[in-house]
Amino acid sequence: MLAPDSLVVHAGIGENEYLAVVPPIYQTSTFAFDCAEQGADLFAGKRDGYIYSRMGNPTVRALEDAVAALEGGHAGLACGSGMAAVHTALATLLSAGDHVICSESVYGPTCTLLETVLSRFGIESTIVDSSDLNAVQDAFRPNTTVVYIETPGNPTLAICDLEPLCKMAHERGAKVIVDNTFMTPILQQPFRWGADVVVHSLTKFLNGHADVVGGMVVVKDEDQYSLFRKSLNHLGGVLGPFDSFLVHRGIKTLSLRMQRHCESALKVATYLEQHPSVEWVRYPGLESHPQHEVAERQMAGGGGVISFELAGGIEAGRAMMNAVRLCGLAVSLGGVESLIQHPASMTHAIMGAEARHRAHITDGLVRVSVGIENPNDIIHDLDQAIAQSNSMSNTANAGEIHA
Ligand SMILES: *Cc1c(COP(=O)(O)O)cnc(C)c1O
Repeated sequence: MLAPDSLVVHAGIGENEYLAVVPPIYQTSTFAFDCAEQGADLFAGKRDGYIYSRMGNPTVRALEDAVAALEGGHAGLACGSGMAAVHTALATLLSAGDHVICSESVYGPTCTLLETVLSRFGIESTIVDSSDLNAVQDAFRPNTTVVYIETPGNPTLAICDLEPLCKMAHERGAKVIVDNTFMTPILQQPFRWGADVVVHSLTKFLNGHADVVGGMVVVKDEDQYSLFRKSLNHLGGVLGPFDSFLVHRGIKTLSLRMQRHCESALKVATYLEQHPSVEWVRYPGLESHPQHEVAERQMAGGGGVISFELAGGIEAGRAMMNAVRLCGLAVSLGGVESLIQHPASMTHAIMGAEARHRAHITDGLVRVSVGIENPNDIIHDLDQAIAQSNSMSNTANAGEIHA
């Protein structure tokens, strides 16, 4: 068994006709049969081979094998986006009348999928703070069949202790799905703690280069695999060969990138924590994180995402966004480039102040995805942007007083 930093280089290479060092891109929608009998055997599952790219493709398979190997799972199913992976996982495991418990600090569209789409098919859900196992326990109902966890959560970075959580779910006959996007298998392997299904947005750290949207479901055994494969074939949200090639290429540097993301994010978080204009910083690698002890046990690093609260609130946040130069002003995360976003004035502005506060999205909350640039350059950029936001929000406040 290879170490993770060797696996990222070699996993999923498979076999290919000319022993190409990199799996070729089979940019094809369909595969010809030798003869009618071979076609019949393929459809009957009596022999291995490819039929049609929605059902399977060698380039896509190479990526699926790589992510499954890294997670310590049995098989992967590549999907057209992270949300397609989340949908595939939920739609495969749930039926009308079932109940889902979902982490409160979950990727927004996942919550919306449960509450506005799956709810129409008779699936109920309860949103809980999954860093509080008592709250999770209280949320179980006789018809709870899935517990959906994101850890660390988004954007609060709340951490769920996976081992007792999985035990609790299994005792009650429920399956646990873990969204491992923020950590990648380099920093956290949910199967080790008992998870049943792992989902990823490949768009983020796994691809790492901000040029593909994709997702992955990883399962633990052959029975689950054949169930999920049939389901994905009928739901239809598969990933294409060229995007699979790009993500597979990105994964070769995953171990190096995650190491750098963790080192730099800790430096940036430490810098922010001592800044007088910053009220608090959430980063799993900081001792001040409420579940730092769980993080140390369950994760091999704090990851690349930091949340912090600007003392100057919404105006300071807006001013800071307009002052950054190196950090890109964009949603998404996990790429080689640093990105910054201020939910109250950007992604969550339309929610209104009250709904934002209920979702723990405070006015001065800023999320940074720390890239692999020199950490001093990142800190310098944040420092000058906070300084500018201070002077601008002071001017704005002074204006209010004069008016
Ligand atoms: C981005 C993201 C998703 C959704 O992925 P897409 O590729 O954008 O569909 C799901 N979960 C988490 C944690 C994410 O960050």
